[in-house]
Amino acid sequence: MWLVFTDLDGTLLDHDSYSFEAARPALDLLKARGIPVILASSKTEAEMRPIADGIGISHPMIVENGAGVVGLNAETTVGDAHSSNRYMRLRTLLRELPKELGACFAGFGDWDVEEVSRQTGLPHSSAALARQRRFSEPGLFTGTDAEKRVFLDHLDAQGFTAVQGGRFFTLMPKTSKADRMAEVVAHYQRRSRDPVRTVALGDAPNDLAMLEAADCGIIISNPAHAPLPVTEREGQGAILRSEQAGPEGWNTMIHQLVATGFL
Ligand SMILES: [Mg+2]
Repeated sequence: MWLVFTDLDGTLLDHDSYSFEAARPALDLLKARGIPVILASSKTEAEMRPIADGIGISHPMIVENGAGVVGLNAETTVGDAHSSNRYMRLRTLLRELPKELGACFAGFGDWDVEEVSRQTGLPHSSAALARQRRFSEPGLFTGTDAEKRVFLDHLDAQGFTAVQGGRFFTLMPKTSKADRMAEVVAHYQRRSRDPVRTVALGDAPNDLAMLEAADCGIIISNPAHAPLPVTEREGQGAILRSEQAGPEGWNTMIHQLVATGFL
């Protein structure tokens, strides 16, 4: 059986309009073939749920940049409860830092909707959904490099790490979209006699591990940033690149995989 993992912003969603409509024919094609589409984004579950509803899917989702996965099965309800504590644990850790060090970081949990909206450029309704966090804490680090090293040591000691994105410094568990992809694959493999094979689509460096782990990775071109580096997997033909950006590229590449009999 096949699974299709996909990033959202700049991949399935248009960089400017956030629409996935151009990919609708490919989404319908996958649905008709019984191939689950697993959304994998840095967004929260609260932000992703309306998108999944719009597509018409209720499959598991990789949320908060791989910090969490939701909707796997009943067992994960326990995991979920445990994971919700992750965010609380992160906020507790921040509160318990030495005062001067704690003052170097401000995150979504320190900001009201108004401030999250100002920092992200999101409208208020979306900023409110982005504040509903369960696994990770994006924010701004304003200290020195030396302070950042000490800050990271504190996170590390508690099983967390931090990644610098384009805008935010995000505190999260030591995990990634690719780790979560492996978890989702294992979940489906337990229920399938056939080997589970994977296609993954993404546009940015935080998708690369996921693209490399897939049987077929697809880099969706994004004119808004520099192209991703060519990896060994791409040299071996396991990673393809779309010509068109966003959902147009998504649509074309999925149709191409079906037309060539790969999918
Ligand atoms: Mg993206």
